[in-house]
Amino acid sequence: MKRVSYNGLEFVPYIENDRIKARIKELGAQITSDCAGKTPLFLCVLNGAFAFASDLFLNVDTDAEITFIRLKSYEGTGSTGVVKEVLGMAENIEGRTVVVVEDIVDTGNTIAKLVDDLKKRNPAEIKIATLLFKPEALQKDVKPDYVGFEIPSNFIIGYGLDLDGLARNLPDIWVKAED
Ligand code: IMP
Ligand code: MG
Repeated sequence: MKRVSYNGLEFVPYIENDRIKARIKELGAQITSDCAGKTPLFLCVLNGAFAFASDLFLNVDTDAEITFIRLKSYEGTGSTGVVKEVLGMAENIEGRTVVVVEDIVDTGNTIAKLVDDLKKRNPAEIKIATLLFKPEALQKDVKPDYVGFEIPSNFIIGYGLDLDGLARNLPDIWVKAED
């Protein structure tokens, strides 16, 4: 089997780019029909969600806006549990439909903190779109509205997801090889 290696860790193929793209098309269609007439504001959570947000947004066929926020909670292959907001958001979201776009919901700490913060700004509704969801790792009471793929709690990279900043540019998603 093909392998890639970063920082001494080995990864094997997991989800091919064609499958990712096909699934995102379906999610785009679903969001288009749910949000038609609402001019939703997509909020891309950087850095990891840039690839997903771009492909998803291009598959939304109704008036919509996109903006970006930068959060960080991971170091190496484990969550630190502490979510740092690195780059804030200037938009007024009062009365708006906000679609938070995440690469992956793991413990749920990042998304739970973000949703709490956003609620204080009185949006009409907050939807969560995540490319990947690890339900077994979830520690918070959050339920993503749009999920690309539910996966077990293994560490993955590619299509925006990184290991210490590397591997975001892999078109496919790769999973850490069993030792
Ligand atoms: P959470 O706060 O534990 O839900 O983690 C969410 C963030 O951790 C994501 O936005 C990712 O940046 C990062 N993360 C979680 N799992 C993985 C993984 O398997 N590979 C790479 N990054 C991950
Ligand atoms: Mg992230």
